[in-house]
Amino acid sequence: MTQVNPELQLVCDFVNTVDLEDGGDELADAAGLGRWLRTRGLWNGRPTTEDAVFAREAREALRELMRANNECDAGRERATEILDTVAARTGITVRFDGGALRVVAPSGGIGSVVAAAGQAMADGSWPRLKACRADSCRWAFVDQAKNHSRIWCSMESCGNREKARAYRRRHGAAGA
Ligand SMILES: [Zn+2]
Repeated sequence: MTQVNPELQLVCDFVNTVDLEDGGDELADAAGLGRWLRTRGLWNGRPTTEDAVFAREAREALRELMRANNECDAGRERATEILDTVAARTGITVRFDGGALRVVAPSGGIGSVVAAAGQAMADGSWPRLKACRADSCRWAFVDQAKNHSRIWCSMESCGNREKARAYRRRHGAAGA
């Protein structure tokens, strides 16, 4: 498998800090957010409860845009507004790096994650970042398929489940 660029991987990991199916959320509180940022070397400070709320909002905004990348009907406008707010609050800016554009977050933290998303948008790799099309799942993944055709987080779980569902719909079988 080819190397995933670190920006995409960071955003992907961030969005997957919650498992929507079993409810476990690494960013459920300030301590959890602090731990997550520290482990990734993004920030060593002590986040507040408000920071954690803000981080979860940013996470779901990114997930919406990743659903849009997977041709889901997503709340793109609201998501964009939230990311604009994050950019303004965290001082995201651009640097000219020897003729290339870099999106950077000088103060680190959640700003670094949103800056990484911005960087991916600037360099054209963003459409590869998707959220699983299964509504109950929405797990983030990097689509490494040549033609960007991947729609499920995994064929074993969501892909087959949806296939079975479609089969039942077509054949009018009972049961969910
Ligand atoms: Zn899935």
